[in-house]
Parts: sequence; C-alpha cells; structure tokens
Amino acid sequence: MKRIICLLLFGFALQSCYSQPGKKKPENMDVHKKNDNPFYSRTDTSKVTVKDEDWKKVLSADMYYIARQKGTERPWTSKFENSKEVGTYYCAVCGNALFKSDTKFDSGCGWPSFYEPISKTSIIYLPDHSLGMSRTEVQCGRCKSHLGHVFEDGPPPTGLRYCINGVVLDFEKASEAEKKYNEQKKNP
Ligand SMILES: [Zn+2]
Repeated sequence: MKRIICLLLFGFALQSCYSQPGKKKPENMDVHKKNDNPFYSRTDTSKVTVKDEDWKKVLSADMYYIARQKGTERPWTSKFENSKEVGTYYCAVCGNALFKSDTKFDSGCGWPSFYEPISKTSIIYLPDHSLGMSRTEVQCGRCKSHLGHVFEDGPPPTGLRYCINGVVLDFEKASEAEKKYNEQKKNP
C-alpha cells in the first residue's frame, strides 16, 4: 500500500514538473533562444561543439530545421528582410556576431542579404553541390550552424551577396553612443 502511495506521489510530482513550464510559457519567441539555450552567448567567442540531439532540446523547431538540418525558410517571411534598423546581426543559435546593418542591402531575393560579414572568422565557407547546383554554403564560425549561401552577384565593394535565413539571425539595435561613433568614423 505504501509503495502505491509513493508511486502516486511520484507520478503527481512528475506531472507537476512537466506542467510548470507550460504555465509560464513566454509569448515572446525571442526569450526561448536566450533563456533556454545555455550555448547562447554574445561575449564567449570559444567554439561551440554540441550534438544535434542536444541542439534539438534547446532550439525552436524552425531554428533546428534551418540551422542543423540545412533547411531554408520560405522567401519573404523574415521580419529582417526589409529591416533598415541600425545595429548588429548575431547567430540566433549561439550569439556569434555575424553582420553589421550597414552591410545589409535590398537584394530582392526574399531573404535578408549582406555584402560582407563582420569579420573573417565570423563565417565558415563550404562547397555545396546539393539540389543539382554548385553553391557555397555559409555556416556560423562559432557553432557551425547553417546560415544560408553566398553568391557572387552582390554590390560593391565585395561583389558578394550573403543570402541568410532570417530565422537563424538575432538582431540588436545599436545604442545611441555606437551610432554617434560610427557617424564620426564615416565623417571625421
Ligand atoms: Zn552560431
């Protein structure tokens, strides 16, 4: 009899554990990737090596599909596609800085597009021969998540078009101080 009560209590405890997060579920999707993802950091630059099964536990389904299974979001669906806000784009999977907003341009291709990454090490390049095409895949330099592809039909000065899935981008607006600093740099 005692054992049955114990089991019942255990079962109840488990159930209440599982139902807890549901009650407090944040409506803002952005909270998910920061609070529930222990691998996300904008300050730690060390490489992240995480098994896909562990990524699956901390990423949203969309992010997992694109970042880890090399999926592609539907064109024209990203809120970043037309965004003109000044700031920095980070890898939404690990927090690695990828692009500055001043290298973003209207490519008309349906995905957020940039002509230059923030640094040489922020991105990794890999040949991609899938779907009968010869393309260059771009991955995050810190966590090796699939970001998109780079094409050679971009604007000057690089002539490159980094065509990036908005789902795997995280944006932070530049502070007023940084904006001023950048303006001074352009017009000394
Ligand atoms: Zn990353």
